[in-house]
Amino acid sequence: KLSASHSCSVSKVRVVIRVRPFLPREISEKNGDAESCISVFDSELKSCDEVTVHLKDQETSRNECFKLDAFFGQEDNNISKIFQEEVKPLISGIFKGCNATVFAYGATGSGKTYTMQGSEESPGLMPLAVATILSICHNTESRVKISYYEIYMDKCYDLLELKEREIAIFDDKDGQIHLRGLAQVRVNSISEFHQVFSCAIQRRKVGQTSLNDVSSRSHGVLVISVSTPCDDDSGKSVDGKLNLIDLAGNEDNKKTCNEGIRLYESAKINQSLFALSNVIYALNNNKPRIPYRENRLTRILQDSLGGTSRALMVACLNPGEYQESVRTVSLASRSR
Ligand code: ADP
Ligand code: MG
Repeated sequence: KLSASHSCSVSKVRVVIRVRPFLPREISEKNGDAESCISVFDSELKSCDEVTVHLKDQETSRNECFKLDAFFGQEDNNISKIFQEEVKPLISGIFKGCNATVFAYGATGSGKTYTMQGSEESPGLMPLAVATILSICHNTESRVKISYYEIYMDKCYDLLELKEREIAIFDDKDGQIHLRGLAQVRVNSISEFHQVFSCAIQRRKVGQTSLNDVSSRSHGVLVISVSTPCDDDSGKSVDGKLNLIDLAGNEDNKKTCNEGIRLYESAKINQSLFALSNVIYALNNNKPRIPYRENRLTRILQDSLGGTSRALMVACLNPGEYQESVRTVSLASRSR
């Protein structure tokens, strides 16, 4: 396999914010004057290096500020802006053999799944990335394959198989981690992708919590792999992959009143999110040791985080939830 390391530069993991709009139900609950607890100075929106996000509790006037890489406000159609500005630059690297990862991070109900999967009218980053990669591959020898799995309670399950199957995770002698027998399905068109993917997303673990009846309790990982034959008749290929991850909800157990298995699940979820932020922090601050091995999630992503790989974290916020947004943004900004 060709190493393309010299053609990809090492770069920081970007951490950006996406605030979803108030939902019609939330607006009517507040009799039409729902006010967002999140703002950013207009003048700062023009700078592309850094933004300061202000969070203010409408009831108590408590407030906090955090620095992040970019801010995408409440207007519904900003998904194509996020895609163009933040995700598209990662895609070109895939064709040079550099892996990339995009995470949606945030509390339950903050818009992670909407950001990653989207809806029929407004496709999210997953279908947008597949469509763009397919269009780049059009009329070339490149092949596109997808895998889709979830990580639930530190175990890995293939979601492309009819019957959900646990995937063994093992280390090879170089310390690389492998998912043994994970299905890969070739897709030639966006409609083929939708066919495969719409069945697969039904299989995700969902559980009943007092906050949200179908809150996602697992990390959902879509992998788009691209293999491009080298044009030197060597039979070799350049392989790159893009991981798109709908992370499980970052929850405050005091608020969800979780008990028993739900509490245990939440603890596992919060551990893995914390481990992820530690890895991103270590990468962004050039630490000599990156703590990949501390958690399943970060071990699985080891070949797609750091090194020549590039990554993006989209921290999703519900504009009506001050405390929850502070939790999300403080962890996100601490990763930078
Ligand atoms: P999460 O996956 O973080 O739990 P969801 O993506 O399911 O949250 O979003 C919660 C609700 O908000 C859903 O009803 C979703 O359709 C809606 N929603 C989220 N983001 C947006 C957005 N940008 N525009 C319109 N509706 C949104
Ligand atoms: Mg979700």
